[in-house]
Amino acid sequence: MTTITTFGPQPRDVFERIPAYKPGRRATGVEIAPLASNESHHEPLPSVLEAIAEEALRINRYPDAAVTNLHAKLAEKFGVGADQVVTGPGSIGVLQQLLETYCAPGDEVVFAWRSFEAYPLLVEIAGGQPVMVPLRADESHDLDAIAASITDRTRIVLLCTPNNPTGVSLSHHDVVRFLDTVPERVLVVIDEAYVEYETSEDAVDSLALIAARLNVLALRTFSKAYGLAGLRVGYAISTPEIIASVRKAVLTFSVNSLAQRAAIASLDADHELAARAAEIAGERDRVVAALADTDWGVLPSQANFVWIRASGERNAALSQAFDDAGILTRVFPEDGIRVTLADAATNDRVIAVLRNTVGE
Ligand SMILES: *Cc1c(COP(=O)(O)O)cnc(C)c1O
Repeated sequence: MTTITTFGPQPRDVFERIPAYKPGRRATGVEIAPLASNESHHEPLPSVLEAIAEEALRINRYPDAAVTNLHAKLAEKFGVGADQVVTGPGSIGVLQQLLETYCAPGDEVVFAWRSFEAYPLLVEIAGGQPVMVPLRADESHDLDAIAASITDRTRIVLLCTPNNPTGVSLSHHDVVRFLDTVPERVLVVIDEAYVEYETSEDAVDSLALIAARLNVLALRTFSKAYGLAGLRVGYAISTPEIIASVRKAVLTFSVNSLAQRAAIASLDADHELAARAAEIAGERDRVVAALADTDWGVLPSQANFVWIRASGERNAALSQAFDDAGILTRVFPEDGIRVTLADAATNDRVIAVLRNTVGE
């Protein structure tokens, strides 16, 4: 709970309700494995570091406010118009712009829960009303219940695929069926922060949905598979009409010049980064297979992390075991523990903890 002083300026009521954002724990020593925030464990590519160093010589100048070169590069990669792309300081930044654009006070934003922790906070700060629809027992989105939750006040539906923190993804077929029931005035945001790790055959083809519909937007980021979490750059792809509106809500210069250059250099290194993502996806499948016969019920994941559903004492015991092993994880005491995957040796440490901790 945020402490609000009795005297002095008073924030809006919403700030009495919402907790401060709880960041993933950070490592304090080399032997500590930082697996709490789904970052890439790979060091930045030399070509990306070179681009940043070159751009650093110009940081006395403002960045390109229109983000022209990066928008053009993204448009080229995805085969869309440059007017169909908008960038922001992380995809969280883009989501905040979206909420400012579409969500008036009291408007509802529907999403599955548990999902990305930033959703309820960003919606509340924007003055909107979060409507949280429980995941099904198999950890997937309950699209029928989400559709049934849409009211006259609903402005946005957020679908997270693969879902953070459960790792379960939606299928293209199910999303198409869902979209057919959603009124066109409701914006459907597909948050694909982990899309580069997805290997399922029926993955959502968000670009096809955007081409065919008026109300779909894909949210993506350079923070995960592209390894630029520290520079803050994310983007959205949608129709020119939606993108034109969202661009108006931009905090000018919010994508800094180093981030713009590093993102372009990363797109130039797409093959290398895709190979890294494929390596992590392979490690992920290895870890899930290695844990199939443990007490912990680790589900297949489509992201760069695994999710262990556990509450109460089970949760406390496992989170203690990870702490004792020097592994930082993301713990949700009521729901479970999320563990980011890294190199094989680190992942073996994760496997060892789960094999050696009794689940009952
Ligand atoms: C990590 C993550 C993001 C990305 O955040 P950035 O602001 O781009 O760093 C967005 N959505 C989900 C679901 C995430 O897990």
